[in-house]
Amino acid sequence: MKLNFNWLAVMKKFNHYFDCNATTPVNEVARAAWLKAITKHWQNPSSLYRGAGQVRNLLEEARLELADFFDLEESAVVFTSGATETNNAVIEYAARVEGVGDAREDRLVVISAVEHPSVREAAVKHFGKQRVRELAVDERGCVRLSELEQLFAEGKVSLVSVMAANNETGVIQPWQEVAELCRQYEVLYHCDAAQWIGKMDLKGLSTCDFVSGSAHKFGGAKGVGFLCLSEAVGSGFSSQVGGPQEGGRRAGTEDFPGVAAMLAALRERQEQWSEQQVGRRLAERTAFERRIIEQLTGIQVVAEDAPRLWNTVMLVLPAAGPKNIKWLIRLDRLGFAVSTGSACSAGKGNPSHVMEAMGLDFDQMSRVLRISGGWQTKGEDWDALADALVEVWEALQGGGRMRRDG
Ligand code: PLP
Repeated sequence: MKLNFNWLAVMKKFNHYFDCNATTPVNEVARAAWLKAITKHWQNPSSLYRGAGQVRNLLEEARLELADFFDLEESAVVFTSGATETNNAVIEYAARVEGVGDAREDRLVVISAVEHPSVREAAVKHFGKQRVRELAVDERGCVRLSELEQLFAEGKVSLVSVMAANNETGVIQPWQEVAELCRQYEVLYHCDAAQWIGKMDLKGLSTCDFVSGSAHKFGGAKGVGFLCLSEAVGSGFSSQVGGPQEGGRRAGTEDFPGVAAMLAALRERQEQWSEQQVGRRLAERTAFERRIIEQLTGIQVVAEDAPRLWNTVMLVLPAAGPKNIKWLIRLDRLGFAVSTGSACSAGKGNPSHVMEAMGLDFDQMSRVLRISGGWQTKGEDWDALADALVEVWEALQGGGRMRRDG
């Protein structure tokens, strides 16, 4: 009886989880795949006995399946520890590759002003500040393609790195157009698709030279991810050294249970994904936005009119109220998990470079709340969150008491 009650409480909290851009709960199918692999296929895939050979075969089957999702050859896939590693590896590799007829020192890397810190900081580390060009975004958070073309006309660009969708705002970048431009100018293109994969259609990502993915953003385990390479880069790519794994392109014992869980999660997403599903979820999120705009005077939805991921809302809370952290604590007490920004900067109190690039001032940044649902989020969960926001707002205004979760 008691067990049953606790299970219900967990389920209740689960549906009030609105921080899926930070990480997602591990899917049931992924958990089962991980457990099976860690129990039966725990051997080192590089060892020579039969048990290890079986793990090696399963790992290669997983590689083939992943490559298939992206319409690529299996040799295009390198397993990594996640998108941070992948992003660092791509930038480091691009900084090492010499441009034809140019000294390496003259070559530039072009990144958008809203890239994840693992791209921004890696670009400065491997290219040097002088050789990093940042593409500005408009007030909706989208990169301007004309600016990119201008940089191409000036020449000497080694690599362009523009993400598919932003982790803080959910704003979708015109990555298909960026890929097309890069092809036209014969420049390598890296797309950090950590927030796109598992939420949106994978079609077209094979036109990028490098694609970063991360399992824990779509129901897999943390510490596992991948890099997809185009034919143009192919076997030439290399990252960390010290072993022959991943065809010599990324040394280190592969985490087969993590890979198996990642594939199970992505397979489920691929099987269940449809335009219709996305449309329904978009409508539920939009209804939530309309309701809180109506009921909380002075609240703003960041990039409201921009193309955005169906799961993400970034709010600027009313100026008449307190800073975001007070809202977050009160929502948490009601059982709702939200964020004050990306998980990486949320704990540090640093101003968000994404908000800064979109023209928000410091006061607005201190009132930002990021809400990111998942596939498990239903219309009634968005309704419950809207109720909770209204309750918190009324309590904060009137110094009133709030109900507590459970
Ligand atoms: N890129 C983007 C767009 C992200 O949202 C994140 C995680 O928040 C990362 C990269 C880093 O991913 P990982 O946690 O797999 O290192």
